[in-house]
Amino acid sequence: MTQPVFRFAPSPNGRLHLGHAASALLNEELARRSGGRLLLRIEDIDVTRCRPEYEAAIIDDLAWLGIAFEPHIRRQSRHFDEYRAAADRLAAMGLLYPCFRTRREIAQGAAAFEAATGAPAPRDPDGAILRSRALHGHDEAEAARRMAAGEPHALRLDMARARALASESLAYTRFDAAGREETVMADPARWGDAVIVRKEIPTSYHLSVVHDDALQGVTHVVRGVDLEAATDLHVLLQRLLDLPTPRYLHHPLIFDDSGEKLAKSRGSTPLAELRAAGADAQEARRLARLAG
Ligand code: GLU
Repeated sequence: MTQPVFRFAPSPNGRLHLGHAASALLNEELARRSGGRLLLRIEDIDVTRCRPEYEAAIIDDLAWLGIAFEPHIRRQSRHFDEYRAAADRLAAMGLLYPCFRTRREIAQGAAAFEAATGAPAPRDPDGAILRSRALHGHDEAEAARRMAAGEPHALRLDMARARALASESLAYTRFDAAGREETVMADPARWGDAVIVRKEIPTSYHLSVVHDDALQGVTHVVRGVDLEAATDLHVLLQRLLDLPTPRYLHHPLIFDDSGEKLAKSRGSTPLAELRAAGADAQEARRLARLAG
């Protein structure tokens, strides 16, 4: 059997909180138990929100927690050319099309749809308005003209075509902390024509994460349940790009169940705050333990 490879992949757009620590610690534990490797990847493609000082603080907090990652850290912002090449491959398969619409125009379109039909505009699992070339139309000639004029645009996946091409099964393996496995079916169509290359950034989370998990030989992805639906899209991209599909565990997020919206949840307590209050790593590890 090949050696398992786990990774923790934070985005340096803020400080690490207990929820992140829980995820990192679960990765650490599962890697240790299986004799696996543990990688740290900095997902800093969003150059408008990510900052080097957050990255330094993340690395410092993880060291304070005592998590031993392999020394080489991959930083996604240094690899935009690789993601571009992956996008080019999808484009060459006829699976990407340019989208010039602003967020505002998309919201206006949804409002018009709702006014006309009396039904809510379909949304993706993140709550964003679902886009589809079939539903919203796409004027090839106009797109070509705007491309030639150098207008900024995103590249969207033509979901209908992508689904037709990835005729292979979209099954993937989910596992739990006790090592139980089950096969589940990805349903990427619920994302509509997802953005694969963002307007202001030459890639997207989905494309980079799939590219890097394969490049780094990741066999086990352990991350929060908030990313479970995204896995459907990731499995589709893996099939389209001929990449292996890791096994996935989506853990619960740690939150207080006080129900009070404004109450600060336990999961969002920054590690820096605990450190400043005199907690030691042992204490933080105890607080970050995932229930169940
Ligand atoms: N970078 C993502 C985040 O911080 C996590 C990505 C992943 O684990 O796939 O939310």
